[in-house]
Amino acid sequence: MTVELAVLVATPAHSNIAGALTYLHDHPLEPGTLVRVPLGQREVLGVVWTAAAGAPLLDAASLRPIASVLQGLPPLSLAWQQLVAFTATYYQRSLGEVALAALPPPLRDITAVQLQRRLNKPPGLAKAAKLTKIKSNQTLAAGLTCQTAIDSVAALNHPPSHPLPTLSLQQAEALRLFALDSRPALLFGATGSGKTEVYLRAAAQVLDDDPAAQVLVMVPEINLTAQLQCRFESRFAHFGPAQVVALHSGLTPAQRLKSWLAAHHGQARLVLGTRMAVLASMPQLRLIVVDEEHDPSYKQQEGARYSARDLAVMRAKLQSANDALPCRVLLGSATPSLESWHSALSGRYQRLNMAERVGSINAASAGALPTVRRIDMRQQSRHCVVAPPLLAAIEGRIARGEQSLIFLNRRGYAPVLACADCGWKSGCPHCSALRVFHKIDRTLRCHHCGFTARVPHACPACGNIDIAPIGRGTERLEEHLAQLLAGVSRPNGGPVRIARIDADTTRLKGTLDSQLASVHAGEVDVLVGTQMIAKGHDFRHITLVAAINPDGALFSSDFRAPERLFGLLLQAAGRAGRDAVHSAASEMWVQTFHPEHPLFVALKAHDYPSFADQQLTDRKDAGLSPFGYSALVRAEAKSQDVAQAFLNAAAASAGAAAQIALYPAVPMTIQRIANIERAQMLVESASRAALQRFLANWQGVLFNTRRQAEFKTLVRWAIDVDPLAI
Ligand code: ADP
Ligand code: ZN
Ligand code: ZN
Repeated sequence: MTVELAVLVATPAHSNIAGALTYLHDHPLEPGTLVRVPLGQREVLGVVWTAAAGAPLLDAASLRPIASVLQGLPPLSLAWQQLVAFTATYYQRSLGEVALAALPPPLRDITAVQLQRRLNKPPGLAKAAKLTKIKSNQTLAAGLTCQTAIDSVAALNHPPSHPLPTLSLQQAEALRLFALDSRPALLFGATGSGKTEVYLRAAAQVLDDDPAAQVLVMVPEINLTAQLQCRFESRFAHFGPAQVVALHSGLTPAQRLKSWLAAHHGQARLVLGTRMAVLASMPQLRLIVVDEEHDPSYKQQEGARYSARDLAVMRAKLQSANDALPCRVLLGSATPSLESWHSALSGRYQRLNMAERVGSINAASAGALPTVRRIDMRQQSRHCVVAPPLLAAIEGRIARGEQSLIFLNRRGYAPVLACADCGWKSGCPHCSALRVFHKIDRTLRCHHCGFTARVPHACPACGNIDIAPIGRGTERLEEHLAQLLAGVSRPNGGPVRIARIDADTTRLKGTLDSQLASVHAGEVDVLVGTQMIAKGHDFRHITLVAAINPDGALFSSDFRAPERLFGLLLQAAGRAGRDAVHSAASEMWVQTFHPEHPLFVALKAHDYPSFADQQLTDRKDAGLSPFGYSALVRAEAKSQDVAQAFLNAAAASAGAAAQIALYPAVPMTIQRIANIERAQMLVESASRAALQRFLANWQGVLFNTRRQAEFKTLVRWAIDVDPLAI
């Protein structure tokens, strides 16, 4: 007997919207089965789907048979299939593309025979030995003497030796309430309130209750996974090795395949990953934790532009609907996204509050949140970079052997090099952007296309040899601080040690880890850096945090800029005073020309709810998220005219649609990158359903418009649903 099967394959052209093709096989295969199928001259990976996937039913004579079935892999679960289908539909991508992108890349090339060999490899002793090695690397990566992790390796087959910390009252209460509810939960917990311990206990509860249960923990940044993996592994060491696996793009393809297989087979009880992990196959998923749920890096910026945070909530819902046992979601943040906060206010989410830092329960001052000090830069001399009172405070910390973290969200030496005579600026010839001056290797680098050239000896326009940097990046700030602190010495007499951490200093693999390790080891007095150091790290000896120049975001055209700034500053503040011994008088300094701005007033009071209230009021008036829904269509072409004309033509063909506002095409903020012109068109609606309906119909129009001769030179177009920046 021969049957026709719909098989999802990712085709390079997105013209096949469903991405499913029909193949023949000698017996029915369960949906979710992984197969290899011929596609043109190639053989590709595919997933058997239900016929409803929209595969065209062709004349059986023209159909080709499935090449092979990947034996030994159980079919992907129904809930997973539904999640993929939802993702494809909601984010306007093809089903095949999303399904295949959710699988680990090596699976695409592996033959049925190779896979079989892989699956037959006994886990055994080699793994335990390797684990020890990974552990010690992670310990280094975490920059801590992660004694617990080392113990856990020693404890393999031995029971865990560390007693669990006694929960604070608010932690216990959060967990109690979480267990009573079924809604998605938003853990609104101050930095240092012990959210991680709540995640650990919630996970432990699920894993202990059901020996098959799986937990997914997501973090925004790869460089935070090592530290957290260390904590989770040591806590769950009694489950044995390979029960906690990582899933992120920093892994080698082979490691990713291994983690994915462990999760798919149910061996891995806990998966710790970045946004991509939300689509991992976890058949017994019972809990999804999204740490720092407000973080913009949960939004995928290419292909299917999904929000892993939003998909986590949807995934739990689909999983619960398919299984007898529920799957819960726990979102955590000190500064939740306004979308999640709004859902908590409306009762759609359960809100769990942890306002206090762990230490503050025992001693009045220990573990208290840092005092926020605003410096009015209008009162300072004109070219002042670090205001005298801030400098004095930094010196005070050095004298006490404490660390300071100075934060400036711009890397390089100076954002631009300019000629005072003719006005020449170091623009990028390929982008509508300025090239940044990097003094260390005397280059001008474009941060958008990467174009790099040596600094010219004289102005390329007029020959003036006096070209000078304008503005300031972390590299220049580091140099400036070194000058300011040159005469200062540490308590034991040595010179002040300044270090910088940003994308430039951490380009080489391993450098971030070793730099963080030296901060943790107390070998640094003043740490200068970008947002890379403001997030997540559990620094113990930092007692002063300063934002040098955060004003830019106050008046940005991007409506989410204030939300991001508030989150970043509160996160940065959260790096100060985490250790009860050192936290007595921790401080967060903000240099600003607008000290009375409501954002800074709310920051001073550590009052996220009042900040959120202000923002939600503004957004409601403007019909912005979470009160309105939007999508962007972006087009790229060799000329701006073509990019815009394409969007406008597609809009004209769309016809009128109820509840939909379509705006004219405009150039993107950075209009040209690497000689490609970029334009975008905004679609808005007060109704999510209306927006979805419109986009689904409009997609076909966009495809057809693309085929017109006048748009032959269009490079690409894409829809971004729920875009982060408009
Ligand atoms: P958050 O993620 O909320 O910023 P963390 O989970 O990093 O906070 O916790 C801050 C610090 O407090 C960590 O060093 C953690 O080990 C410690 N901690 C958390 N809960 C407890 C507890 N119940 N007892 C003692 N220490 C705790
Ligand atoms: Zn000049
Ligand atoms: Zn460029």
